[in-house]
Amino acid sequence: MEIPLPEIEPLLSFLQDIIRIPSPSTRERGVVERVAEEMKRVGFAEVSIDEVGNVVGRIGSGSGKSLLYDAHTDTVGIGDPAAWSRDPFGAVIEEGVLYGRGAADNKGALAAMIYGAKSIIDADLDLTGDLYVVGSVQEEDCEGYAIGLLCRKSKPHAVLLGEPTNLQISRGQRGRIMLVVTSHGRSCHASSPQLGVNAIYGMNKVVAGVEALNSKLAQHPFLGPGSIAVTRIEGAGASLNVVPDTCRAYLDRRLTWGEDEALALSQVKEIIEEKGVRAEVETVIYEARSHTGYPCHKKKYFPAWLLEEDHPLVQMGARTVRRTLGYDPQIMGWRFSTDGVATKGELAIPTIGFGPGEEAHCHTTEDQVKIEDLLKAAQVYAQFAVDFLGR
Ligand SMILES: [Zn+2]
Repeated sequence: MEIPLPEIEPLLSFLQDIIRIPSPSTRERGVVERVAEEMKRVGFAEVSIDEVGNVVGRIGSGSGKSLLYDAHTDTVGIGDPAAWSRDPFGAVIEEGVLYGRGAADNKGALAAMIYGAKSIIDADLDLTGDLYVVGSVQEEDCEGYAIGLLCRKSKPHAVLLGEPTNLQISRGQRGRIMLVVTSHGRSCHASSPQLGVNAIYGMNKVVAGVEALNSKLAQHPFLGPGSIAVTRIEGAGASLNVVPDTCRAYLDRRLTWGEDEALALSQVKEIIEEKGVRAEVETVIYEARSHTGYPCHKKKYFPAWLLEEDHPLVQMGARTVRRTLGYDPQIMGWRFSTDGVATKGELAIPTIGFGPGEEAHCHTTEDQVKIEDLLKAAQVYAQFAVDFLGR
């Protein structure tokens, strides 16, 4: 039996609803509850909100293989509202395109996943395994954290991420790590600076070393080069007429294939030693309370991940797209970071990406998704679950 086409009207009005509910990281409750309501309404067998606050819906037989679809419910902020030509929470539709914060990243995919599952439910297809659709939380602040907690317990056999691929297949991304360097000096009155040791001057040498390091980092033919950038410097003197005894610099380090936390730390330690600066480097810690009150604590280290192009999951995704939409998808990698850092990077669960929307619109005032692409994505989500799990 053919899977019926998802209905566009209810999909759209549901997506408009969840775009109109602002959901910055750790404040996703309103959207999560709305998503749970919709999952129940369309007939998911089981719907729950886990301890960290992910909303999890299940359809299928309750045994056998399991496939997990993940789209995050949180969004980045809107910045200056005046910079938007349309209301970021208006979810307006113009000429076949839906606009608003989270349209591309990542609420459009979530709505398409739920309506893809609904097609399976409506067709009375008996999957031989389970499909989980997850609206995850805190992806923008600490990708992989919340979905990682869930996947450590539920151990799905494969994961599909709905981050925007413009309906192509993604098979990996660079990793990243946030580092902080603290340099130390000795305070004195700024009128006699020669009596102290200025922590900022020490940091200056480290910064020069970091700048030089950027061009020497490893390369990978698919993921590209590793990179490093200083993104913030804080000098902490008691007041503006005191030579500061502490300075902090934050480093955004992108990790290509083969680069990990130990390597990233050792490269910066080497600079500190070479320059003879009294300083140390460590990984920044993420600390937050989720919308359910769960205490989150994690190093901001997100490993790179990659699936080979000939991996069965990549090939199955490409076949489903060809069969459903009639073209051979491009097999690409993401520039940005995703929940795959946990599902594949930490937990080694085969993971691919497929989503409506374009990477270029994420986090911008032009956040948008084409209505036609929502429908296409929903079709692929329905067919891929059947192809992967069987019936
Ligand atoms: Zn995203």
